[in-house]
Amino acid sequence: MKDVIHISSCTCCGDLLRGAFSRRHLVLSAAAFSAAAVLSPYRAFAAEGHYEAMVLGCIDPRLQEPVHRYTRRRGLTGKFSQFVIAGAAVGVVAEPFKDWQKAFWDNLATSIQLHHIKKVIAIDHRDCGAAKIAYGPEKVANPKIETETHRTAMADFRKQVGERQPALKVETGLMALNGRIEMFA
Ligand SMILES: [Zn+2]
Repeated sequence: MKDVIHISSCTCCGDLLRGAFSRRHLVLSAAAFSAAAVLSPYRAFAAEGHYEAMVLGCIDPRLQEPVHRYTRRRGLTGKFSQFVIAGAAVGVVAEPFKDWQKAFWDNLATSIQLHHIKKVIAIDHRDCGAAKIAYGPEKVANPKIETETHRTAMADFRKQVGERQPALKVETGLMALNGRIEMFA
């Protein structure tokens, strides 16, 4: 309301401000519209409720779309919470990233409380820069060694989830850059 009075009483820059105001108004309307469009498929789901899973992924930009495709293939669209951290399971268990890890466990507990998720799905990936930082280049030197490095990290992840959230199911997988995923149990 203040803005409107200011605009109408200002003779020197009223047009400019009015222009800014209407542009801002348009931007806000567009944002509200697109938010509604994005949210509409999920209208049946509430902030608190019963959802399927938390998906844990890496921050790597190359993996966002493949992970998205994977969750869609599994029919999880709109049914999972998401936690994204460099290295995915590696980020949650590797010693060099220990300062980050409480945030994951707290978020997992919050998602269990709010969303009543039944499982956590951790998706590590090949050619992960965070795994290289955490364990050193020799631990990801070739696909075989890389697989073993992630296998170990994901086993540790499953163990820690079991200790902290024993009722929760855990799935762990290693995704190639093309989206192909190899699950480890
Ligand atoms: Zn990564």
